[in-house]
Amino acid sequence: MYANNRAPLSEVVRNLEAVTSRIKDASARWQRDPKDITIVAVSKRQPDERVHAALEAGHRVFGENRVQEAAGRWPDLKSRHPDIELHLIGPLQTNKIREAVELFDVIETVDREKLAGKLDREMQAQGRRMRCMIQVNTGEETQKAGVLPAEADAFIVRCLKRPGLDVRGLMCIPPISEDPAPHFALLAKIAGRHGLGELSMGMTSDFEVAIQFGATHVRVGTAIFGERAD
Ligand SMILES: *Cc1c(COP(=O)(O)O)cnc(C)c1O
Repeated sequence: MYANNRAPLSEVVRNLEAVTSRIKDASARWQRDPKDITIVAVSKRQPDERVHAALEAGHRVFGENRVQEAAGRWPDLKSRHPDIELHLIGPLQTNKIREAVELFDVIETVDREKLAGKLDREMQAQGRRMRCMIQVNTGEETQKAGVLPAEADAFIVRCLKRPGLDVRGLMCIPPISEDPAPHFALLAKIAGRHGLGELSMGMTSDFEVAIQFGATHVRVGTAIFGERAD
């Protein structure tokens, strides 16, 4: 079935199947349709070979957290597989906006006025709309990106009025040492107030909990590709 059966390849394929089946089980448990849940395979700092294995297995949705790193890997792969959907899941500096909109299909980390404004103007200039999500700092951590929950409603309303932004939903990264459930619940509640249908939440350690609380996108790296080289 696969052209190449070396260990890293088959391992990635097995992992993808395992994550898919865990999503199916969690969906059954929480009355969700597994079709409503997209795996964003987080390929940051992973060897090319493992990413190629996921592509060969037919996976098409990937996440990267750095524009620079993504720019080294994805333009070539995207030209070979035009149906790849690439998500930016890390902070975006305003001086990287042009590069980011050329490369990414979805920006999950819109979190401040200046970024939203520049992104909006860049997309309008190009006659496009950027699919994006708004990152909420649900744990109110000082070192973490994201709009604060108290400011989220006003920020979301302003973003929804921007013609260059196609705001689909919200994204969060709960504090590592806390129970993620209340954070996922908070994100879902804020999204519900604005009729936003997409929720990017849950990673390797907690994607099943995120599914319970309505995740439509789970960002899974380690469980698919193995430990990252840092
Ligand atoms: C790295 C990363 C992930 C994936 O984390 P794993 O624990 O490897 O699944 C998900 N979301 C964001 C924002 C990340 O930076």
